[in-house]
Amino acid sequence: MNKIVSLIIVLTTLISCNQTEKKVEIQKVTKPKKEHSDFGFNFSDYNVIQDTVRKGDTFGTIIEKQNIGDRKIHDIVQAVKDTFDVRVIRPNKAFTMFRSKNKTNKLEVFVYQPDALNYYIFDFRDSLVVAHKKTRPITIREKIIGGVLKGSLSETLDKANVSTGLASQITKVYSWTIDFFKLKKGDRFGIVFTERFVNDSIYNGVDELKGMFFEYKGKIKYAFPFVKDISTGKVEYYDEEGKTLKNLFLKTPIKFSRISSRFSGSRFHPVQHRWKAHKGTDYAAPTGTPITTTAAGVVEMTGYTAGNGNYVKVKHNSTYSTQYLHMSKILVRRGQSVSQGQVIGKVGSTGLATGPHVCYRFWKNGVQVDALKLNLPSGEPMTGSDKSRYLQTIKPIRRELDSIGNL
Ligand SMILES: [Zn+2]
Repeated sequence: MNKIVSLIIVLTTLISCNQTEKKVEIQKVTKPKKEHSDFGFNFSDYNVIQDTVRKGDTFGTIIEKQNIGDRKIHDIVQAVKDTFDVRVIRPNKAFTMFRSKNKTNKLEVFVYQPDALNYYIFDFRDSLVVAHKKTRPITIREKIIGGVLKGSLSETLDKANVSTGLASQITKVYSWTIDFFKLKKGDRFGIVFTERFVNDSIYNGVDELKGMFFEYKGKIKYAFPFVKDISTGKVEYYDEEGKTLKNLFLKTPIKFSRISSRFSGSRFHPVQHRWKAHKGTDYAAPTGTPITTTAAGVVEMTGYTAGNGNYVKVKHNSTYSTQYLHMSKILVRRGQSVSQGQVIGKVGSTGLATGPHVCYRFWKNGVQVDALKLNLPSGEPMTGSDKSRYLQTIKPIRRELDSIGNL
């Protein structure tokens, strides 16, 4: 399990001979000069000091220590305020000072770097101090990795020098579809994604996941990101036919029924005759009516308590579980995999119940929530122009993924 002898094929060099455009240049990258320079200044022209902001330091305390002639800090702060609010200076952030090489050792340029991408230039060379905000050029490069899994996903990605953030993003996309603990030795996979590089050389993380597949239980499971609703801009993941990867919940755990009691913070309990919270939705139905699980998952618990009667709890993914109470009969075992709509028990009135019904409880991140008020994603299949736009978008990525197997 731990040993990975997987065939990880990093294709960055290989794909460059392909016709499709692989390298997306966001900004023109200037060729690095031989002489050491940064921020547009040659280091050899100045006395350069590079440091980080210490705890307790402010823009004022840093600048004050320098030879800034007869300028007043207050005037400097005023002069730059439209570009830079000096209060945002934070400890541990880098700064660079370019001082004149002559005897005066005057501060000529101060550069503050809040992150790897952005920096602020404070130019002291003229009598009036001016500030500019700059962003370093970013290059985005596409990368394809693929092969055979022989360790965990994160181990495999680690071996391919891919950030762990990508692994968690991938498991999230497939959280309804794949149990990553159950991936088997020999299962194939492929991932197309882009990475950001600052100044064409410094790795700055994963930019975008463009498409992937995993072989799971003998089937290839594709996932492609797509914004169906441009107005919201929300990215969702779909399979090769445009079906959502989210396993949506059925509206009710029994086919024909009526709601006899809703989720509420406080209701008068019909058996206990006192006010207490009701953390479920009751569906009244004759004893023996089949109860179905509202989504696929694994039976997390079955049992009997005085309050719940016979109950079943199903775990759907790391976020959602559902629970079904007062059954006359339990039809599943703990640990059993269940599919959406599978009969897991029969309606009864065991435990605290006045009549036959199923109390349907919905858990989100371990907290009971009102199933009727959950804003779960729409399961409407993609049609018409959405679908053709989708298929057109994924075509080149799909081709790249499918070529992995033939290498
Ligand atoms: Zn109930």
